[in-house]
Amino acid sequence: MSLFNTTYDVIVVGGGHAGSEAAAASANMGAHTLLITMNLQNIAQMSCNPAMGGIAKGQIVREIDALGGYSAIVTDKTAIQFKMLNKSKGPAMWSPRAQSDRKRFAELWRLTLEGIDNVDFWQDSVVDLIIEKNKILGVKTALEIDIFSKSVVITAGTFLNGKIHLGEKQFGGGRAGERASIGITERLIKLGFEHGRMKTGTPARVDGRSLDYSKMEEQPGNDDPLKFSFSPETKPLTKQRSCYITYTNPQVHEVLRTGFEKSPLFNGRIMGSGPRYCPSIEDKLDRFSERERHQLFIEPEGWETCEIYVNGFSSSLPEDVQFEAMKLIPGFENAKMFRPGYAIEYDYFPPTQLNYTLETKLIENLYFAGQINGTTGYEEAACQGMMAGINAHQKNNGLEEFTLSRSEAYIGVLIDDLITKGTEEPYRMFTSRAEYRLLLRQDNADIRLTEISNKLGLASDERLERVRKKIKFTEEFIALLKNTGANLEKVNVVLEKNNSSLLTQKIRLDKVLSRPNISLNELIKTSEKLIELSESFGDLKTEVIEQTEVQIKYSGYILKEKDVANKITRLEGTSIPNDIDYSKLHSLSNESKEKLSKISPKTIGQASRISGIKPTDINILLVYLGR
Ligand code: FAD
Repeated sequence: MSLFNTTYDVIVVGGGHAGSEAAAASANMGAHTLLITMNLQNIAQMSCNPAMGGIAKGQIVREIDALGGYSAIVTDKTAIQFKMLNKSKGPAMWSPRAQSDRKRFAELWRLTLEGIDNVDFWQDSVVDLIIEKNKILGVKTALEIDIFSKSVVITAGTFLNGKIHLGEKQFGGGRAGERASIGITERLIKLGFEHGRMKTGTPARVDGRSLDYSKMEEQPGNDDPLKFSFSPETKPLTKQRSCYITYTNPQVHEVLRTGFEKSPLFNGRIMGSGPRYCPSIEDKLDRFSERERHQLFIEPEGWETCEIYVNGFSSSLPEDVQFEAMKLIPGFENAKMFRPGYAIEYDYFPPTQLNYTLETKLIENLYFAGQINGTTGYEEAACQGMMAGINAHQKNNGLEEFTLSRSEAYIGVLIDDLITKGTEEPYRMFTSRAEYRLLLRQDNADIRLTEISNKLGLASDERLERVRKKIKFTEEFIALLKNTGANLEKVNVVLEKNNSSLLTQKIRLDKVLSRPNISLNELIKTSEKLIELSESFGDLKTEVIEQTEVQIKYSGYILKEKDVANKITRLEGTSIPNDIDYSKLHSLSNESKEKLSKISPKTIGQASRISGIKPTDINILLVYLGR
């Protein structure tokens, strides 16, 4: 009897962050899904930092949540600390970040997937793909089993021909303690895919019992922590664990430099390009040699464990050099090391080989998501997984492609950047990559995306109902502020406290709120009507107050950005036929013909973002298309 005598709708290869969201999305939409991963114990393992979110990444987690994914819910339920970063800047920059309990995070993801009926599991390694006439039919595994499916999503992370480096030692592996994945790259190359090599690294983990925290600065979580998910299923933390800050110094640097000769980074053994914004400590010493110290964040790995993650001390220097240098860091004099830092090199496939749905251009029904596409980060991986899982289901059932535009979501920005421009170094999200970042805020991800997700069959009707209520309550609150005159006596007390000029005549409360430093929470207390209305919002009160405040304070900027987005949407709306033969457009330069043929942009907007494509090329295309 065969173990797998069925043809699955979707096979997801790899149970990392991309694979977990991909499997959940396709299965929740109704696809019979098989998740094949090398170790079922390590589902959604955080390979590096035990944290989710952060600048621009926090926005992505909230978008995944609004779309009906689980990264936010799992984070909330396993968080040990929550912070809203950049609160002193404008709301486009506010970014939620949570420190997670690494072990519980992985455990809860596994239980979450087990809770979805349509997900089957198989622990094995995929070594080959079954393909006929440029269409995927299934996979072959290391246990010599053929498993068939209508579509396959590959989310192999850092495992494809992964090579771990630690000083002069190097060995195959996808992550410390786990085997590398061999076979998929080789097969894809034979099929004509281009591939490249990237690298990343992770710092040492130490025994928290051996650290002297009195020599470090404490970094507690927010006093009034929020949470990631818009769902009432999760609650903000009632207790948190602190992180700490300490610094390297010239003595630490001197010891680290003694290992440079043996460093795989400097002696040419590592060829792949690494994440520019997450450099190793040796990279930092090399690039910023004038700096006397570098900041380190000392982060607990969970509620109970004493293991500590030394954020900022990523290194592939020999373990004894890492250890000796570490002991010279204030607070680390008696440190005991649990695991040394290391670097890893792995194969990736330039994402310009993908369509917007993350389906490969070369092989039908084959999708790539996550680090395999040259990205770095759990959040970047998770959202791609979700998009690939959704699209695999849609295509299998002859349904419309599901894509998001750059003005709808950071996810749209990420995928458009990847498939249009490609990436030669690990791609991570930043707010600066989004041209409409005031529209793509973390606080309105639910308003932007829940309706679309509900139509797809992912976000529940209850979720949608909740978002509709939030929108309605916000409108009512804004209307009340616009129609209520300020109580001069009470409002002036608030203004005086915040060094804002006092009112001499009655103005509407929305005008008072537009002033810098004046918070809605303070203004509410000046009016019985506002108190009464805000109390009627129930558990949506905090969100509605935040939403109202942002919409009133930034209304001018938001309208301006919407206006620009609408204009650009017209360019995005000008489609380019699939069968256009660029070689026949003689006015285009050879370079432009080559780039346009390779990327095969779907719209004029996308064509305009291909690096090297000039405004004159766009004019030629518009003329050709009869515009
Ligand atoms: P992964 O989380 O890597 O998951 C891949 C999964 O696929 C694994 O479960 C694996 O078992 C499975 N798999 C692979 N091949 C096969 C196969 N053939 N058959 C079956 N299953 C397979 N990110 C940052 O943002 N900043 C950092 O500083 C950073 N440092 C890192 C340091 C290290 C050492 C490592 C390993 C990763 C680091 N990352 C960092 C990257 C981060 O871990 C990834 O971005 C994220 O985990 C990618 O998610 P993914 O789902 O694409 O892949």
